[in-house]
Amino acid sequence: MTHSTDHNQALFDRAKRVIPGGVNSPVRAFKAVGGTPRFVKRAQGAYFWDANDQRYIDYIGSWGPMILGHGHPAVLKAVQEAALEGFSFGAPTEREVHLAEEILKLMPSMDMVRLVSSGTEAAMSAIRLARGATGRSKLIKFEGCYHGHADALLVKAGSGLATFGNATSAGVPPEVVQHTLVLEYNNVAQLEEAFHLYGKELACLMIEPIAGNMNFVRASVPFVKRCRELCTEYGALLVFDEVMNGFRVALGSAQSVYARQIPGFEPDMTVMGKVIGGGMPLAAFGARRAVMELLAPLGAVYQAGTLSGNPIATACGLATLHEISKPGFFEDLTRKTRSLVTGLAAAAAAQGVPFSADSEGGMFGFFLLPELPQNYPQVMKTDSARFNKLFHGLLDRGVYIAPALYEAGFVSAAHTDADIAATVAAASEVFKSL
Ligand SMILES: *Cc1c(COP(=O)(O)O)cnc(C)c1O
Repeated sequence: MTHSTDHNQALFDRAKRVIPGGVNSPVRAFKAVGGTPRFVKRAQGAYFWDANDQRYIDYIGSWGPMILGHGHPAVLKAVQEAALEGFSFGAPTEREVHLAEEILKLMPSMDMVRLVSSGTEAAMSAIRLARGATGRSKLIKFEGCYHGHADALLVKAGSGLATFGNATSAGVPPEVVQHTLVLEYNNVAQLEEAFHLYGKELACLMIEPIAGNMNFVRASVPFVKRCRELCTEYGALLVFDEVMNGFRVALGSAQSVYARQIPGFEPDMTVMGKVIGGGMPLAAFGARRAVMELLAPLGAVYQAGTLSGNPIATACGLATLHEISKPGFFEDLTRKTRSLVTGLAAAAAAQGVPFSADSEGGMFGFFLLPELPQNYPQVMKTDSARFNKLFHGLLDRGVYIAPALYEAGFVSAAHTDADIAATVAAASEVFKSL
């Protein structure tokens, strides 16, 4: 396509003059894979169309929220009706109460939730609450897990075992991350050492149970079990960041997947986002009543938001939760996602391409590696040049996957078996040239 007729390129050039890098969230810029980002004109069901009117099968779904696909009629209706009643009031509404009730029904580990507008805000507030509840400062996070861009969470591992981390962003002073301990995912020995050294000073341990920000890496059952035991033993709060996993991997979220394998398992606090807003800015964090009642206006831990519990976002979230709660919803989504993953694996095997893949509910990941990685350094062994070739090969064939090898993928209820088959056929062609 020549430059003059590539409307994506024209928009990108225009965008770069007024928005840093031309995008409002870095991964959208295609920096990892190269090429021109697709500017989305509109979307419907499992597809979106770019500025050149090119159609793509969408496996990002806004990075997870669009679990019903784009433009689901019941959700559209709820949003349109809510819009007619008003955009935002800065005063409470019944819909917020209703959404909180519905979230709590599906997530028995929480007695109360506070609604906010982004996952970043929810994770940041959860940490403040954990610190307020315990009177302690330190926290544990894991390399490769993303919890939004709050200062204290933009940290990578330090040089030694169980040492405190270094900021991953300019503008984050070392004093701000001095309480954040970054450990290797799925490494029980390191976890035990960290608790042995700092357990009594830890406010919380925050983890993505099925990490989707290093593609797709499950926390092993023994690892989660040990996290739970150590947090209980040392009085630190176990915080599940289910912003991506929540209402995506199962109706009861990732904690229900672990509770099936660890009897009685539950986290102390849960951070939610993405699917609960159905594509609108909405997120939440919740815990047992005694912890949540420490929040303002009841308690001393401050937290607030002008647009928190926004009436249109809550309408969108409620309609989305209503649809995903219908009998058979997750069974069908799980089956389709599995068939995608097994189809891709078979196509790769037929071409002799090293490949491994996994999925849970409507979330999946695949690697150009012979075995599923267990932690971030293993994920990063992926041949990125090869991944980029795969990405662009699929894109050229109308299939849009995440433009970076360390991101998960998402199937929606709107994806048909024919969409999955077309995707596998496209991948099969691309694998031939890898
Ligand atoms: C997306 C994400 C966040 C951040 O949510 P935003 O709404 O983008 O701020 C936090 N944690 C996890 C696990 C996420 O996937």
